[in-house]
Amino acid sequence: DAAVAFEDVRFSYNPDRPILKGISFTVPAGRTIAIVGPSGAGKSTISRLLFRFYEPQGGRILVDGQDIAAVTQESLRSAIGMVPQDTVLFNDTIGYNIRYGRWDASEEEVREAARLAQIDRFVESLPEGYDTPVGERGLKLSGGEKQRVAIARTILKSPPILLLDEATSALDSFTEKEIQDALDRVSRGRTTLVIAHRLSTVVGADEIIVLDKGEIVERGSHAQLLAAE
Ligand code: ADP
Ligand code: ADP
Repeated sequence: DAAVAFEDVRFSYNPDRPILKGISFTVPAGRTIAIVGPSGAGKSTISRLLFRFYEPQGGRILVDGQDIAAVTQESLRSAIGMVPQDTVLFNDTIGYNIRYGRWDASEEEVREAARLAQIDRFVESLPEGYDTPVGERGLKLSGGEKQRVAIARTILKSPPILLLDEATSALDSFTEKEIQDALDRVSRGRTTLVIAHRLSTVVGADEIIVLDKGEIVERGSHAQLLAAE
C-alpha cells in the first residue's frame, strides 16, 4: 500500500514557469524512496506541496490513500515527521531533549533512538551554556550533533511517515559517509521519503527517483542507476 502517492502532479509558483511538470511516484509503506536531483530541480517544492504550503495545479497527492486537499496541515504534520533544520536545546540533558514531546517513552526507547542517531554517548550530558549548580559544565555540540538530537527526537516520536530533507537541514554539514549511515539507520523498516542532492548518499534506498527541471528523468535502484550511467 502506498503511504504517499503523487499522481501526475503539476505545479508552478508563477504561471509562466512550470516547476513540477506532471510527476508521479509512490512511497510504499515500510519502504525508503529517495528523490535526488540538482539544485533547482523542484525537490523542496515536493515537500512544500506534501505539507500543503501550496496546492498543486494539476494531479493529486494522496497520503494513506486520502487526497490531501481534504486533510488539514495539522494532521499532515502528525502523519509526516520532518527533522527540523534548527534545533533549540532545552536546559536539561540530551536525553530529556530527545524525549521532548514523548513523555511516555521508556529509558530504553530513548537510548535506542540516541543509538540510532549515534549520540548515545551524550544522553546524560547537558548542552552548552547550561551548567549545573554543582559546577558541571554543559557540552558544546557541533551543528551535526545537534541535528542528531533532532533526528533522535523524530525517531522516538515514530511518525507514520518520515521525511528527511537533506537540502534543508544541517545534514549538509555531515560528511557524505555520515549522511549515508544516518539515513540507513534511521530509515530502515520505516516509511521514508528522502530528499538529497547526491546519488551517493542514498545508496540504501529501495527506489531512487532522479528529478531534473521538474521532471522525473530516471528511476530505479542505486545499482540500476549506476549501470545506466
Ligand atoms: P530544489 O529543492 O530541487 O533545489 P526547489 O523546489 O527549491 O528546488 O525550487 C525549484 C524551482 O522553483 C527553482 O528554480 C526555484 O528558484 C523556484 N522557486 C522555489 N521557490 C519559489 C518561490 N517561492 N517563488 C518562485 N519560484 C520559486
Ligand atoms: P525552505 O524553503 O527553508 O527550504 P521548505 O518550505 O522547503 O523550507 O520546507 C518545508 C518546511 O516545512 C520546512 O522548513 C519546515 O520548517 C516545515 N515543516 C513542515 N512540516 C514540518 C514538520 N512536520 N515538522 C517540522 N517542520 C515542518
